[in-house]
Amino acid sequence: MTAMSVVSVCHARLASGVPTLYRIECTNGTISSILPDYPHSQPHTDVHAEGGLVIPSLAHAHLHLDKCSILDRSDLLTGDFSEALKVTNAAKAAFKDDPDDLYRRGERLVCESVQCGVTSIRAHVEVDEAVGLLCVETGLQLSAAFREVCDVQIAAFAQEPLFVGSSTEPGENYALLVRALDKHADRIKVVGSAPYVEPSIAQAKLNIGLVLDLAIKHHLHADFHLDYNLDPSSEPLIHTVISEAKRRAWPSELGIAIGHATRLQLFTPAEWEALGAAMESLPIKLIGLPQSDMYMMGRSAFDAPLGAPRGTLRVPQLASRHGIRVAMAVNNVQNAFTPQGSLDPLALCTLGVALFQSATPADLRELLRAVTLTAKQAVAEPRVHKDLTLAVGDPADLLVLHGTPDVATAVLNPGLDRTTIRAGVVVARRRVSRWIAGTR
Ligand SMILES: [Zn+2]
Repeated sequence: MTAMSVVSVCHARLASGVPTLYRIECTNGTISSILPDYPHSQPHTDVHAEGGLVIPSLAHAHLHLDKCSILDRSDLLTGDFSEALKVTNAAKAAFKDDPDDLYRRGERLVCESVQCGVTSIRAHVEVDEAVGLLCVETGLQLSAAFREVCDVQIAAFAQEPLFVGSSTEPGENYALLVRALDKHADRIKVVGSAPYVEPSIAQAKLNIGLVLDLAIKHHLHADFHLDYNLDPSSEPLIHTVISEAKRRAWPSELGIAIGHATRLQLFTPAEWEALGAAMESLPIKLIGLPQSDMYMMGRSAFDAPLGAPRGTLRVPQLASRHGIRVAMAVNNVQNAFTPQGSLDPLALCTLGVALFQSATPADLRELLRAVTLTAKQAVAEPRVHKDLTLAVGDPADLLVLHGTPDVATAVLNPGLDRTTIRAGVVVARRRVSRWIAGTR
């Protein structure tokens, strides 16, 4: 930062629940003062919160940058997972014919995210024989283009199998992942895979080992799409991640994120306690992806009396009963894996109230944490607030929810009028225009 940056927010409320209005001053990227404000004071400030809540900014802990907004080119007949893989692969094969389209879809995703209040994104971009390094290199361009408004961490991600047939020697998709990292390891922050796509469990375990080795070699965070099923007979591979990471004396500064993990929903309380203890010495964070999980999981129970089960990590219950804090993320936007939903992380909180059947004050806070503080911890974001209630010395990465007075409203029915502040600078505003006939 070259010159001193100062921004102030007036008529603001904090997540403490105290109804006092505050004036929040930010200097050089940090909250420098929080003082009582007065309802009728003249706002000589940059941002007028209109009595709205100011909280830590939002994060997308898990977002696919390259395969967003392609539903219009995906013909769905069954809607199941294998069809989603198939139609998405067909769409991906055409990315190289129109690189501008790939860039523009990603650009719109980041812009709209920042307008929602997001200042930190872990963006998965695929590497395989269909797309080569095109998605990684487009992602790196977008990350650089948005450097001043949002931290876009690029995760080089193998959605496709690293092994071919029954071979235990990694194939061309692995070779491409290695090439992407050799070429761009200085700018790629994360390496990831989806071990469940491998032809066998043995190969899925080898996939995990290969990705952990690449992460250590290039000093990257690791990120797995894992245990994406509700099958009680399937072996939970999170145990393999834990044992393989420990075997490698995993460096504590590198995070390990695990997305989906729906299979863990079948754990007994004793299994959760054992998992919590096993993870304790490792920087592992779970990320629930409820919009995708609910759309895709449990389809075999379609004709059962109550239909498909709730197939997504129970965020508030895991925190209150087992002390395991789980992040929530949007995952996909408008594609065959997740056709529905917006890219607003706060929409996940609203969905979570019904999914997890709780609107207690403690659980509402936990849901809000899942898309702010816990989400940032899951992606090893260096600037994380200590609590939802802001304090002097916190990073000035903030979301102003104009007219949304408290945490309950922010979760149950969040307003659309927002201002996003990142590193003490206003980076986005979103104001809804309203009009109704017959009024002045
Ligand atoms: Zn994903």
